Amino acid sequence: MIKEYGEALYSITVDLDLGCPNRDEKGNGGCSFCPSHGARSAQSMDAKSVEEQIKVGISFAKRRYKAKRFMLYIQAYTGTFSSLKKQKETYSKLLKLYNFDAISIGTRPDCLSIETLEYLQELNSQIDVHVDLGIQSLNDATLININRQHDSQCSIDAIKKLQHYGIKVFAHIIIGFKGESTEDWSRTVQKLVSLHVDGFKIHNLHVIKNTPLHVEYQNRQFKTYDEYEYAEELIHLLRLIPTNIPILRIATDTPNKDLVAPLWKMSKAEFGEYIKDTLQYRFGKSNVDNNFWSDKYKDYYYPKSGAIKQARELFIEKSDLKKRLTCKDVKLLDIGFGFGVNSFEALKLQCENSLHVTALDQDLSIAKRSNDINLLIGDVRYTLTKLEGKFDVIFLDPFHEEKNPTMVSKEVITHLKRLLKKDGVIITSTFLNSTKMRFELVGFKTKLLKIREIRGLIAFF
Ligand code: SF4
Repeated sequence: MIKEYGEALYSITVDLDLGCPNRDEKGNGGCSFCPSHGARSAQSMDAKSVEEQIKVGISFAKRRYKAKRFMLYIQAYTGTFSSLKKQKETYSKLLKLYNFDAISIGTRPDCLSIETLEYLQELNSQIDVHVDLGIQSLNDATLININRQHDSQCSIDAIKKLQHYGIKVFAHIIIGFKGESTEDWSRTVQKLVSLHVDGFKIHNLHVIKNTPLHVEYQNRQFKTYDEYEYAEELIHLLRLIPTNIPILRIATDTPNKDLVAPLWKMSKAEFGEYIKDTLQYRFGKSNVDNNFWSDKYKDYYYPKSGAIKQARELFIEKSDLKKRLTCKDVKLLDIGFGFGVNSFEALKLQCENSLHVTALDQDLSIAKRSNDINLLIGDVRYTLTKLEGKFDVIFLDPFHEEKNPTMVSKEVITHLKRLLKKDGVIITSTFLNSTKMRFELVGFKTKLLKIREIRGLIAFF
C-alpha cells in the first residue's frame, strides 16, 4: 500500500446486508463457522446506518492508528450477491460518502457473474477495486464438512476470472479446520501462490456461539489452536509466501461474549508483535554484537565481570552442580540459553555421571548449536508446555528482567514448579524483589545471592 499510495490505507468496514446465497431462505444454513451477522467487524458491530458505520470506522482508525487514507471494505455477507442494479446503486452511493482511495469487496467464489465482473472492471477504471475472496481452504473434503456449497475448482476459476478482468484478488483462508493439518493448509497456500493472488488474509478458526460449528463443538470438542500453536503454523505458512505477495491479516477479532474457543491471552495486536519478534529472533540477524552488546535491550548481555564468571560462580556453584554430579546423572534445564555459556561451562565439569542439558531460547540468531544439548527454540511460555519429566537443576537467565518480563512471569514460574524435582534448585540471574515475591507466591522458598557484583536468586522447595 505504501509503495502504491505513498502510505498505508486503512480498511473502513461496512455491512451492507446484501445477503448470502448460502444462508438466505433458499440457502443451506450457511458455512458452519459463520455467525448470523455474517462476519461483521467488531468496530462496526453496533453502528446502524451505513453512513454511521463509515463515520465510526474512520474516526476509530484516525484515533487508534493515526490513519489518513482509507479503503472501503464491504466485509460481511456476500458483496456481489444482490442484483447488479442494487450493487451499482449501493457502491456508487457509498463511494460518494468519503474520498476513498480503493474499495475492497468481500464475496464468495460462486457469486461472480459475467455482469458483475464487467461492472467491477468498469468501477476499477475509476477507483482501485480489490475482491476479498472467501476461499477458506482448497481441500474439497473440508469444504463439504464446513458446508461451503462450492468446491476448490470454483475458487480457482473465480481467481482466474477476476484476474482476466484486471481485478486484484485477496485470498481469505482459515487455519485449523477439523481434519486438516499443516500439510493441508500448506497445500492451499502453495496453490494460491502459484495462482498469483495479490494478497493473503489469514486467521485461525474461531468457534463462535450459535453457529453450526458451536453445536459440533458442544457434541464433541475438537482441537482449536492457542496463540503459540497457531503462531507456529502461521510462521510456517508465511515462509511459503514470496515477499512480493502482501499479507493483509494474520488474526481476527471475535467479541469475547461470542467466542467459544480458542480463548487466547494475547490480544490481536500483541499477537502481531509476537509474530514479528519471533520471525526476527528465528530468522533475522543477531541483535547482539561480539562485545555482547544488545541493540534491542541497549545493554550488555552479561554482567561486567563476564559471562564465564557468571556461569561458574552463580549458576554452577550456587546450584551445587558438581556435587550433584558426583552422586548421579543430572538433568539440567537452561532457560535463556543465549550464547550457551552457562550450559557449555556446565558440560566442562568432569564427573563419572552424565549431565543431560535441555536448553530453551527464542532467539536462534544468538544461540549456538551443540550436539550435547537438546535445544528448543520458541517463546518460553510455549516451549515450557512441551517439556515433560523433571529436572534437578534449572538455570533461568532472563538477561534483562525489566525489558524481558515474560521470562520471570508467574506463568513461567508456575511451569518451573511442575518441572523441578523435590530436591531440585533454580538459579536465576535476577534479583528484583518483585521476582522473589512471585517465586514465593507460586510456592518456592527463595534467597537473594550476591557474589561481588554478580547478583541472583536461588529458589527451591
Ligand atoms: S459465504 Fe460468507 S456470509 Fe455466507 S455463510 Fe459462508 S461465511 Fe457466512
